[in-house]
Formats: sequence, structure tokens, C-alpha cells
Amino acid sequence: MFDFQPTSGLLTSKTILVTGAGDGIGKEAALQFAKYGATVILLGRTVSKLEAVYDEIVANGGPEPAIIPLDLQGATPQHYRDMANTIDNQFASLDGVLHNASLLGHLEPFQQINEDDWNNVMQVNVNSQFFMTQALLPVMKKSKNASLVFTTSSVGLKGRAYWGSYSISKFATQGMMEVIADENENTSVRANCINPGGTRTNMRAQAYPAEDASKLKTPEEIMPLYLYLMSDASKHESGKTFHAQPK
Ligand code: NDP
Repeated sequence: MFDFQPTSGLLTSKTILVTGAGDGIGKEAALQFAKYGATVILLGRTVSKLEAVYDEIVANGGPEPAIIPLDLQGATPQHYRDMANTIDNQFASLDGVLHNASLLGHLEPFQQINEDDWNNVMQVNVNSQFFMTQALLPVMKKSKNASLVFTTSSVGLKGRAYWGSYSISKFATQGMMEVIADENENTSVRANCINPGGTRTNMRAQAYPAEDASKLKTPEEIMPLYLYLMSDASKHESGKTFHAQPK
């Protein structure tokens, strides 16, 4: 596992946006960021799940979070510009964005991927991240040290049969991170990717329905890398892909 020992107050006074914060890895990341002192902006499409995370953060004594209900499937560039203005007006700074939400789509032969499958996966996994990041970068540049974290996958580093749209979308994520990191070499914004590795979530169960999930790491176990990349301990890291678990 990635070795990082977070200290209490590691993320104090930081504001961090997490997409797909209602479930799986995004939920755990939101809880952990708040535990270490961050004000978390919870973005997702299922409000009841976001409210449950909100309640858990408050019950644990964390800073009061904010909720942005948004379905990335239908969101337009204007939604992201409005969201960026709201964040800019309501928070002292935006110090981190975890692009975590994504869609697995259907696992099927390349030749059978239909227009809807392709467009849905590209909309959630690529277009939404692109337009959201474009809108948020000017706000992030006001932070002393801002961290953009994208989520890749082993199939985003080496293409794999039948993982079509999802695999290709993760290569695009990787490319987006590298372009942003290179362009922002001399700014306060850094960009990196996390490959979580097989983790016990709904998406993993959808991809591997027959496996014994009890053998997988839990979202909580892979959090050291997420905390490292959101904290100032990683302020000199940019343009890299980190693995939360041994490959
Ligand atoms: P889950 O499916 O468990 O959670 C995904 C989250 O994203 C959910 O909260 C979901 O919302 C949200 N989401 C999905 N579509 C949309 C949308 N259109 N608009 C807004 N929110 C949306 O996935 P994981 O936690 O497993 O995955 C997190 C990230 O890690 C993903 O990027 C995934 O590709 C990556 N990953 C995961 C691995 C694993 O083994 N788990 C391995 C490699 C990479 P809702 O709850 O409402 O459905």
C-alpha cells in the first residue's frame, strides 16, 4: 500500500471538491478529508446519499460540508461555470478537486459498442471532467497550493479487451492530467492521477460479479494516497500517476 502517515489537522483550512461523493471511494475520500480538517464540497447525482455523507461528517465533528447535486450525464459547460462562480463566492479558496465519479458502462467487444454506450461513458468520464476543470482552474489558481486529482485505472494505462469505452475514457483522463500538469508547471496548481487498484465497491462488483469481494481492499484502506495528494506534503508532485495498491 502507498505509505503515508497523515497527521491530525493535515487538511485544515482547505476546501476540497469530491465528485461521486455519495458512494464507494468518493464517499470514503470525503469522510477522510473532513476527518483531517478539510471543508468538503460533496458533488453527486443521488441527493440522499450525499445527505448521508453530510450527516456523518457533521456527527463526527468535521467542518460543515456543502452539497452540489449534479448529474454529470446532463450537465453543460454553463452548469460548471455557475458552479465555479458559486464556489468562488462562498469559499475562501478551492484547494483540491478529486475527479472520482465515473461510469463503467458495458463490458463488450469493441465492435459491439453502440453510440449510446460510447456517448454516456465519454460524457461522464471525460467531457464532464474537461468542462468542470476548465471552469474551476481560475478559482484554483487563487489557492497557494491547489491539487487536481484524477482517477485512472489499470485499463487506462494498458488497453484491455472488452473494456472498450471505459478503458479508452481512462486513457483520455490520463492525457488530460498530463496536459494540465505540463501547462501549469509554473502555477500553484498541480495535477496527478490515482489508480486505486481493485477496491470493494459497487463498480468493482459490477465488473467482477463472481469474485470474492472480501479479498479486496476497502476504500478506507487505500486512503493514505488520497490524503497525501490533497495535502501540502505532495506540493512538488505533478504530472504523475500514483498507485494506491501494489500493481
Ligand atoms: P462506484 O460506482 O462505487 O461510485 C461511483 C460514484 O460516482 C457514485 O457515488 C456515483 O453516484 C457517482 N456517479 C456515477 N455517475 C455519475 C453521474 N452521472 N453524475 C454524478 N455522479 C455520478 O465507483 P468506485 O468508488 O469503485 O470508483 C471510483 C473511481 O475509481 C472511478 O473513477 C473508477 O473508475 C475508479 N476505479 C475504481 C476501481 C475499483 O476497483 N473500485 C479500480 C480502478 C479505478 P451514485 O451513487 O448516485 O450512483
